[in-house]
Amino acid sequence: MDQQFTQEMEQLLLNLRKEILESLASEDEDFKSLVSSMGIKDDGDVASDDMMIKKMEVLNQIAANRLKSVDAALSRIKNHKYGMCLQCGAKIPEERLRAIPYAVLCIKCKSGQEGQKRKSW
Ligand SMILES: [Zn+2]
Repeated sequence: MDQQFTQEMEQLLLNLRKEILESLASEDEDFKSLVSSMGIKDDGDVASDDMMIKKMEVLNQIAANRLKSVDAALSRIKNHKYGMCLQCGAKIPEERLRAIPYAVLCIKCKSGQEGQKRKSW
């Protein structure tokens, strides 16, 4: 993998990491104010608050998973394994990495994986 490209992707990943952390922090604030406002509401509102908390949990989960992927990609850069498919070891095309800097599978393996998921569902 081209050194300059890897550096570019590292910068992109670091920016992405910062963004995710910032969004997690702001959601955390929303979450806190939501929780503190719950005590003063009547029973009718509890259900919708509950749903909102569930929704935020899901959003946080997605962000946490993305953060994990970004961290994994950064450690792969350090280990000089960045840009290689985890499954078959093929080079992941630069265009794909530009679109998803934390991609770990080549398009072939990725679409194979999604096909399997769909089947098992
Ligand atoms: Zn592959």
